[in-house]
Formats: sequence, C-alpha cells, structure tokens
Amino acid sequence: MRIVRFVNAITGVPDEWQRPQWGVLIDDAVCPVARAPHVCYSSEDEIEVSGPPQPLDQVRLLAPVTPTKVACVGRNYAEHAAEFGNEAPPEPLIFLKPPTTIVGPDAPVVYPTLSERVDHEGELAVVVGRRCRHVSESDVAGVIFGYTIANDVTARDLQRKDGQWTRGKGFDTFGPIGPWVDTDYDHSGRTLRCWVNGELRQESNTDLMIHSVARIVSYVTAFMTLVPGDVIMTGTPAGVGPVRPGDTMVVAIEGLGELSNPVVADSFGS
Ligand code: MG
Repeated sequence: MRIVRFVNAITGVPDEWQRPQWGVLIDDAVCPVARAPHVCYSSEDEIEVSGPPQPLDQVRLLAPVTPTKVACVGRNYAEHAAEFGNEAPPEPLIFLKPPTTIVGPDAPVVYPTLSERVDHEGELAVVVGRRCRHVSESDVAGVIFGYTIANDVTARDLQRKDGQWTRGKGFDTFGPIGPWVDTDYDHSGRTLRCWVNGELRQESNTDLMIHSVARIVSYVTAFMTLVPGDVIMTGTPAGVGPVRPGDTMVVAIEGLGELSNPVVADSFGS
C-alpha cells in the first residue's frame, strides 16, 4: 500500500492555507483516510477510506510523513566514504536533521546565502511504525511502517567548516522526502539513482550499504526511542555533487518511485 499526504491543487491558494489530508494511492487515484495511517495502522487493521477518490493530477502531494526526528547515517556506502577520503565507519555514524528540513515532492529546496557548496544525496528512507526502544536486529521488521525516497541535501562547505553537521545538514527544506510511503516494499537489491537536470550523478544498489537497515534501526534504538512517523535516512552512495539555484534534482529507487525537487535561491531579505 502507498500512503500519501496531500492538499487539493487549487490554483492561487497556497498549500499552507489548506488542511493537509492523509490518503492511500489506489489505481493512480488518492483516497482520503480519516487518520494518519502510520499512527492508527497495524498489520491487523484495515485502513478506512473516508472520502471519494481524487485523480492524482487534482491533488498536490506533500511529504508523506511528519516525523518528530530524522535520524541519518553518514558514510554507509564504501565508495561514497572514499570519494571524500574518509574511512568507512565500523559502526553506523548517526546524525540528526531537524523536522523542519522536511519538504514534499516538487517542493523547492532553498539554497542558503550562508553556503557556496550545496550537494544532493539520494537515499533510501525508513519510516517507523511503532514506538520502540532496544529493538534487536531480528525484530526490526516489526517496527517499520514502510519505505520512501529522501534527498539528504547538504551544505558541504559548512559541514566541513563546523566539524559537526547540524548546520550543514539542517537548513529548512534540506530534507525532501516522498512521494509516498510504501508499506509492502522489499528494499533489498534495488537500484538507486540521482539526476541533476537530467544528468545521471549517482547510481548504486541498496545491497551495497555497509550497515543494513536492520542493523541501523537496532543501533539507533539502543540510544533513543523512535515513534511512529520518525524517519531514518540510510546513507548515500558515491557521486554526490553540487547543485545551483535553477537546477532540478531527481532521486529514483527501483520499485519505489521518483522524488523531484527544484533548487531555488533564498529570497529572504530581498
Ligand atoms: Mg546522507
């Protein structure tokens, strides 16, 4: 099942003036559901459709999750660690992005005036479905709600300058995610690609992750509680590179869909 969050595509009405709705995607139509599926849904429950289906082209999709936190793994593909001269870490290297980084499909990523080097990072993202702590690797499947696509946008110059990553990873809009959460997705052996303006920049396979999804979720829950809707970005493969205002980034993962976001200049103060 594919879970979405959406507003009606009404010309001239800003998204933030509308009430976002949760929905499920059935045959290219969005069927509204009454409650956030990741909160009310368990494998025993049926999701209750609460309104008539609407064609996809009559809605605007928003980020399909509203996490309390976004945990990310750094350097989880050997070739990506090597492209910046780093060793692959023996344990998952975890950092956080604030929830205010999250934006949905086609939403603009704002290029900050504080940075001169902003990079795309296409990644597989895990969405948590149960409040959990101290989850063993063998129990991880039971706490995962589904999978989606993410772009861990990074101000590379600030990441290097600061020595820790809060600012470089944490600008508003630096966490595009979507277009939906797939609750039945098998993430193993999937091709991951990222294009900028149609030029292929990243191409790899999820089987090349150093630390598996089970290992990462178990590792994170050893030190913090995850709650439904929380997101874990599982790391980017080699090929990261700069973007500029006017560019369009597209991340695609085989069988999961495609996430496209334009980059725009920061208009703050202008
Ligand atoms: Mg990353």
